[in-house]
This record gives sequence, C-alpha cells and structure tokens, in this order.
Amino acid sequence: MYWWQAIVVLAWAMLSLVFAWVLWALETFSDPVAWGVVIVAVFVADAGSYVFHYVVDHYGRPRPGGVVHAFQRHHLIPDGIVQKPVVEVLYPAARIVTPLEALLLLGVSVRGEAGWWVLALLVLSVFWVLAQLCHRWSHRPPGRLVRGLQAAGILVSPSAHQRHHEAPYDSHFAVITGWSNPLFDGFGLPRRLDRLMQCLGLEKRGLVRNLRELEARE
Ligand SMILES: [Zn+2]
Ligand SMILES: [Zn+2]
Repeated sequence: MYWWQAIVVLAWAMLSLVFAWVLWALETFSDPVAWGVVIVAVFVADAGSYVFHYVVDHYGRPRPGGVVHAFQRHHLIPDGIVQKPVVEVLYPAARIVTPLEALLLLGVSVRGEAGWWVLALLVLSVFWVLAQLCHRWSHRPPGRLVRGLQAAGILVSPSAHQRHHEAPYDSHFAVITGWSNPLFDGFGLPRRLDRLMQCLGLEKRGLVRNLRELEARE
C-alpha cells in the first residue's frame, strides 16, 4: 500500500459524507420517494457488478496489474482479497469515482438544488467503490455487524458467493448485496449476454481456459 492510495480513499470517503450531508441539507431525503430511489440505485449497482464481473471473468484478457488480471487471479488465490489492506481494495475504484463525485457536488453547489438522479448517482458511485469491500467481506466477514447484514440479505453472503467460486464459474456474479444473483441466474443472463457479445463479434474465452493459461504463466 502506498500513502497516496490512502489519501485518495480518505478523500473519497470524506467527499461522499459531505455530499450526503449537502443532500440532507437540501431536504432531498424529506420525500419518502428518495428512499425508494436509494434502494433502486443499490439494486442497479449490484446488477452492474453482476454484468461487469461476468464480462471480466469470461471475456477479459488478463494483463498483469489490470482489473481483468485481478478478477481472474482471484479465482486462483481467493484468499488474496482478504490479505491485502482495505485501502488497496478500495483504491482502484476510488481514484476514478472521486473526481466524478467532486464534479457532481460542484454542480449541485452551483445550482443549489439536487434532483433524485443526483441521489441515485451518489449511491451508484459509493457502491461502485464499496463493491470490492463487500466482496472481501463475503470471503471473511470482519464482525457481527457484517455477518448480521449478510444473514439479513442486505449484503452478499459467504455461502452465495462461494457458489461463484465453483467451476464452471457460471453463476452468482453479483458481489454487493447479491439481490440480482437469483434474478439474473434464473433468467439465464450469462447465456443472453453471450448472444449479445456474439452479435458484437466478441470471442468468449471462458474463465476455465483463462485460469489454465494464468496458472501456466505463474
Ligand atoms: Zn469471478
Ligand atoms: Zn470471491
């Protein structure tokens, strides 16, 4: 872990808290619909983690240091995610999200108002960063609070995520709340995404083949 990674993650956390406070001060949360917006945005974030994770696992070409390499290598060394510092888990997304949140907050400050789409974007960006932390917790819950949230179905549970780590690695791709796992697995989303990717001319390498090649290289 580098000190500047910690500064970026800290800046993101503080900016997100200030942003939430500004929305509170603007009375964005006074309408009950706002809480519905928050729940829908959390679901969209979880659904996004499913699609992103599927494409990265089965279509990505791993380059050392890249996100595809990190995701695919995680299947070879699942414990790696709990061994690195939390800052390293949050940093890759925080460095992208922080400037976007800052720009959005600047826009809200200039206008002096925030629509529900701003609230939705803030929730999406926060969970974009927290996705890998929720994933880490599904490998090793840090305490009773997280275990309780997982048991209540608010965060993805270790048992659900463990199913993703079983060959042929074809289900349970969502890593935040896990709400989209039964929905998308039941709907056969991976096969439907395959058909879409085929139309786009993208070759499916498959995670089993990717892991065989990664293993041979290491
Ligand atoms: Zn995976
Ligand atoms: Zn995992």
